Amino acid sequence: MSGIKNQLAKNQRNRVPNVVQNVAVLGATGSIGQSTLDVLSHLTDRFRVALLSCHQRLDRFQEQCDRFRPKRAIVTGPRSAEVDAWLGGKPGSAVTGSAVTGSSEPGSKETVREVGSDRLIEAILSDDIDIVVAAIVGCAGLESSLAAASAGMRLGLANKESLVVAGELLIAAARSSGAELLPIDSEHSAIFQSIQSGHGNSEVQRIILTASGGPLRQWPVRDLENATVEDALAHPTWNMGRKITVDSATMMNKALEVIEAKWLFGLTPEQITVVIHPQSTIHSMVEFCDGSVIGQLSPPDMRLPIQYALTYPERVPSPAHKINWTEPHQMEWYPVDPERYPALELGFEVARRGGTTGAVLNGANEAAVELFLNRKIRLTEIAKICRAVLDHHDYSPSPTLDELMRLDHWSREEVFRWINLPC
Ligand code: NAD
Ligand code: MG
Repeated sequence: MSGIKNQLAKNQRNRVPNVVQNVAVLGATGSIGQSTLDVLSHLTDRFRVALLSCHQRLDRFQEQCDRFRPKRAIVTGPRSAEVDAWLGGKPGSAVTGSAVTGSSEPGSKETVREVGSDRLIEAILSDDIDIVVAAIVGCAGLESSLAAASAGMRLGLANKESLVVAGELLIAAARSSGAELLPIDSEHSAIFQSIQSGHGNSEVQRIILTASGGPLRQWPVRDLENATVEDALAHPTWNMGRKITVDSATMMNKALEVIEAKWLFGLTPEQITVVIHPQSTIHSMVEFCDGSVIGQLSPPDMRLPIQYALTYPERVPSPAHKINWTEPHQMEWYPVDPERYPALELGFEVARRGGTTGAVLNGANEAAVELFLNRKIRLTEIAKICRAVLDHHDYSPSPTLDELMRLDHWSREEVFRWINLPC
């Protein structure tokens, strides 16, 4: 395990007592964004909300701005009458990136409101941000993750797609700038927490990523093609955004997490095992060479891994739910049935091949999930389409960021071509 553990050991900065750190929450209106703000509202002696961004849900965003008074608030979504009203401009105005109130200190009464993803990157790079929480969904989060990693700050990474699309580039950027890359994804936080006991890299045999199995775990395989959007979104243990919830139903989420683990922890695919654990209490485990297994347990509540990424290496009291040890609790695990979850193999294949495959798998999956959510394709078609697009692309072992972005675009178009829909 040569990746994140050594990198953190090298860069780890202990908090200077009484110094409040400025936090940027990107994708603040989403599931992870809201949980992050909840955590931050309990830790005001340590952290100040300095920058918030969202793409949609301006009503919720404005409530967050009113409550946390960030220095800057940035909407990255398309210009609309609603955005103009929020910005304070005239509906239909062509102006982008205008600010409506004066500059001010984080936590003060005045928030500068802005529009445009270019503003977001500029704010990450230019402001006195100490920590970025990357909670944007999809490849759309890559540019801001890369900006934070290149700027040498602490990056709490929920946006796993950044690593799936451009893991090599993101890790290299963090290494060269001295950025701290802290996993927020619960499984990767669990692995990270489990290897804190100081064991050397050679002592780690494998990691075991746990998967809930999603809402369709017990459906007959032949019925899966009839699963509706509502069926796929009815997750039994986690309350998350729509895209990741569909990914959990197909187990594409675990496929993406296999790739994420490879990059974060410097693992070979052979060192990664996935098991189904329906209770989502053990968030993942590390098996050492002597057969001992160390894992991290807690109820399914993202506030815990989010807080750990913020306060690491310290642990402080958290608002997250705790296990009730006075109640009986069952913990089961099962092997993954590849017939039920064909998407998982795609993750292992991408982890083996690297290069352009992550960008293509991710782009195809994002497009296919969107089509499923719009009721244009069946749930079971998602993995089939991703397989076809992956097999059909021009592979390159060491692509540039531009090439990855071109392939992200190409793979989305390809999904539409495969199912004969206009792009
Ligand atoms: P969500 O859909 O609830 O929220 C997404 C956020 O991103 C929103 O604020 C939205 O406005 C913003 N956004 C959407 N499209 C955007 C774009 N094109 N540009 C900029 N911003 C955009 O998603 P979520 O469930 O909070 O997941 C966020 C990320 O965290 C994903 O990468 C997901 O895989 C990861 N993650 C989520 C959970 C969870 O419990 N929700 C757990 C682990 C990892
Ligand atoms: Mg996860």
